[in-house]
Amino acid sequence: MTTNKQIRVRFAPSPTGALHVGGVRTALYNYLFARQHQGKFLLRIEDTDQQRLVPGAEEYIRESLAWCGIHPDEGVAEGGPHAPYRQSERGKIYAQYAQQLIDAGHAYYAFDTEDDLNEMREKLKAANVATPQYNAITRMQMKNSITLPSDEVQTLIQGGTPYVIRLKVPRKEEVRLNDRVRGWVMVHSSTIDDKVLVKSDGLPTYHLANVVDDHLMEITHVIRGEEWLPSAPLHVLLYRFLGWEDTMPEFAHLPLLLKPDGNGKLSKRDAQQHGFPVFPLEWEGPDGEKLRGFKQDGYLPEAFVNFLALLGWNPGSEQELFSLDELVQAFSLDRINKGGARFDIQKANWFNQQYIKNKPDEELAGYLLQYLKEQSVESSREKAVRVAGLMKERITFLQELWLNAKYFYAPPQQYDEKIVSKKWTDEAVTILKSYSATLQKHTGVLSAEEAKAQLEKVLEAYDIKIGKIMQALRVAITGEGGGPDLTEIISVLGAEETATRINMALDKLKDEVKLT
Ligand code: GLU
Repeated sequence: MTTNKQIRVRFAPSPTGALHVGGVRTALYNYLFARQHQGKFLLRIEDTDQQRLVPGAEEYIRESLAWCGIHPDEGVAEGGPHAPYRQSERGKIYAQYAQQLIDAGHAYYAFDTEDDLNEMREKLKAANVATPQYNAITRMQMKNSITLPSDEVQTLIQGGTPYVIRLKVPRKEEVRLNDRVRGWVMVHSSTIDDKVLVKSDGLPTYHLANVVDDHLMEITHVIRGEEWLPSAPLHVLLYRFLGWEDTMPEFAHLPLLLKPDGNGKLSKRDAQQHGFPVFPLEWEGPDGEKLRGFKQDGYLPEAFVNFLALLGWNPGSEQELFSLDELVQAFSLDRINKGGARFDIQKANWFNQQYIKNKPDEELAGYLLQYLKEQSVESSREKAVRVAGLMKERITFLQELWLNAKYFYAPPQQYDEKIVSKKWTDEAVTILKSYSATLQKHTGVLSAEEAKAQLEKVLEAYDIKIGKIMQALRVAITGEGGGPDLTEIISVLGAEETATRINMALDKLKDEVKLT
């Protein structure tokens, strides 16, 4: 039981490329669980498979977590009592435990060459064995320290013959584990093969390094993707053989993330095909591979995190919007769903919309100013705050703060033709001319209320209803048929700029006037 112990969990990615949303979700659940129990969240980099290492991947992982607000308590960058947290720097540690397993008769040296192994597989296939395995039966025909006399084993090792160390999996034993999500999982040891624990280059495989580190780092709960469930019984055997079964962590295997149609695992190909991101940040791999990221696609990290939290976990209520702190309070391993979670980008978009809408104008202005800077467009912070405030109810993605609001920063280059063809009437032209003249006389700041009052005065003088001219006025000022409250736009632009734009439109569209 782990009740009185401090909760310690880890996210243990292999830096083999960009971190997929599924990985971010695993990190998030670990983080929430740790925070909720005032425990520790560790980031351990599992880089023992040197051939699969991708430069930049570790950094990408760290940046992605930081963007999400998931900050490790211990880890490769943070350090901590169990440093180093990068497995490639822990080589010596594993050798000792491999030796311990050998000494206890739970592991053995195997000298088989690639050819020997292929030959064994072929033989078994010929005998109709569907999945040939190096196991309790076949090991007896192979070249290893179980079949060879010990002096020969010593000679081979001393002579530099390459070898691996394999786990001696018992032939007939039931291996059980109580997964927090799946319940009891029972596996017969005959289905597990004698996994390699140490490779011929002397480096440990994932299985050995993972179990040793989880033990040494005092991990209490292993929360990870379902793809690791088949490895869990093997890990249980390792804990047992290393004498650590009493303090073995609890396991919780998270459901898969499924394609939008629910048919199979969500892949990077799906994302490319359907045009949505499945990575937190943009990624450009060393091979030139380019992947889009939620961040660069205009999602707020808070929205992304909220969306991910509900992909595989449910709060047991109708509530959908959760801040990170609220997630920490509400999260529970017991409400992780067993079934796969369908990845629905529309839902992500909905969350983003909600979060943008609820963000303070000041904060959104920061994003807008960033986009403006990239476009070399000048803006005061004050103006950016007002524009962001007017746009936030009407957009889904952050970049739309700029893309849908360009008219706040430059007069329209073109005018919505549909609106012009229907609404550019002689009545409208009359009002626009008179309104522009009124605005030209105005000095100083123009509030939205004043802009409205002045317009109403003009309308009254001509006895024309506002509905008849509103769209023409909007198109003259913004070029578009829709947008936030027009008098607010006028107020942001100011009297002079608005009048100039109206005059410009009157001039450019003078041949379009329809009689009413
Ligand atoms: N290194 C494994 C991975 O890449 C870790 C699996 C685990 O959490 O045990 O996902």
